[in-house]
Amino acid sequence: MVKRSFLSLEGITKRYGRHAALDSVDVEIARGDFVTLLGPSGSGKSTALMAIAGFVLPEEGRITFDGTDITRVPPERRGFGVVFQGYALFPHMTVAANIAYPLEVRGESRAAIDQKVRRVLDLVQLLGMEERRPSMLSGGQQQRVAIARALVYEPPLLLLDEPLSALDRKLRGELQAGLKALHARLGTTFVNVTHDQEEALGLSTKVVLLSRGRVAQQGSPGEIYDRPRTAFVADFIGNANVLALDGMSQTQHGWVGQAGTSTLRLLPLHPVAAGGKAMVAIRQEAIGLGAPPAWDCDAIEGTVIDVERIGPVVRVLFDGADAGLLRLSMPATVETPTSGTATHAWWRVADAVHVLDERS
Ligand code: ADP
Repeated sequence: MVKRSFLSLEGITKRYGRHAALDSVDVEIARGDFVTLLGPSGSGKSTALMAIAGFVLPEEGRITFDGTDITRVPPERRGFGVVFQGYALFPHMTVAANIAYPLEVRGESRAAIDQKVRRVLDLVQLLGMEERRPSMLSGGQQQRVAIARALVYEPPLLLLDEPLSALDRKLRGELQAGLKALHARLGTTFVNVTHDQEEALGLSTKVVLLSRGRVAQQGSPGEIYDRPRTAFVADFIGNANVLALDGMSQTQHGWVGQAGTSTLRLLPLHPVAAGGKAMVAIRQEAIGLGAPPAWDCDAIEGTVIDVERIGPVVRVLFDGADAGLLRLSMPATVETPTSGTATHAWWRVADAVHVLDERS
């Protein structure tokens, strides 16, 4: 089923002086999506989120929400829930008063406010904390209060600006699970900002990867991970190996190219010029060691130079001589290779993804 666009950014450009924080950004968001804006620091994630919220006015382009142009509508009239990086709770007010505040501003009745505050406290699992002040809560609890406050008036869209970045890893994991459950329960459209690719892949129904103010790729986490469009996407998402092939030629086995002295096959996904260069991305977990098991595999000869066990995975560094270095990742349950072993690194040709030569 094709989902109608709920929120769309069309050709959004925002400049600070001569620098474009956003450069012709197009993003499509469907109702009920959990979208993550992902990218390195300075790539334009917060600017994009703040343009959706209405705090940043773009010089060019259009933002439409549910069929209406909202490009110039002020933030308070958009009615979106926003959770900022700092939790921005009122320190002198109790948890209940913090959450009730947006409803009081809207002039709702005491009874309605009490009922809504309880409901949202239940959603973020903070019932019983009503009378505490923010200073009496942990960072994770404060963050849940900020989320509750943004959700209490049932906004059609919840915008989250790196809400979990200040928390330690374990707590972040718990709150990520909480956010995912909240999204599933409410069905509200979420737009989240993060620089953490695991968070993006784990939580989202859609990932928008930004680089230098442009959209490098957008799609489901599976699409972005399995079919990166460029060398930058392959590297940023999953830290894939990117090999440069040259002397591309079409043979009876399809397109092949040279990585040093190794001849490797490539299934073209983009135009390829005979005699020219091409790039392939191979995910770390798609590479095996030892004799290639089948005709549809390619391999390079080399040496295992480092082996590192990190809990459930073993990371291997393989020196493919003139073909370059490869990083491998395998479950710790398989036989662990030893450093210094001369062997082959192999992968299925179907796992070598042809990517465009864009490194940023
Ligand atoms: P991200 O959220 O991905 O880290 P930002 O959206 O905050 O990136 O910033 C994108 C770019 O725009 C950066 O180069 C940043 O320095 C610049 N920028 C953001 N906000 C401002 C501002 N208010 N004034 C000047 N430059 C800004």
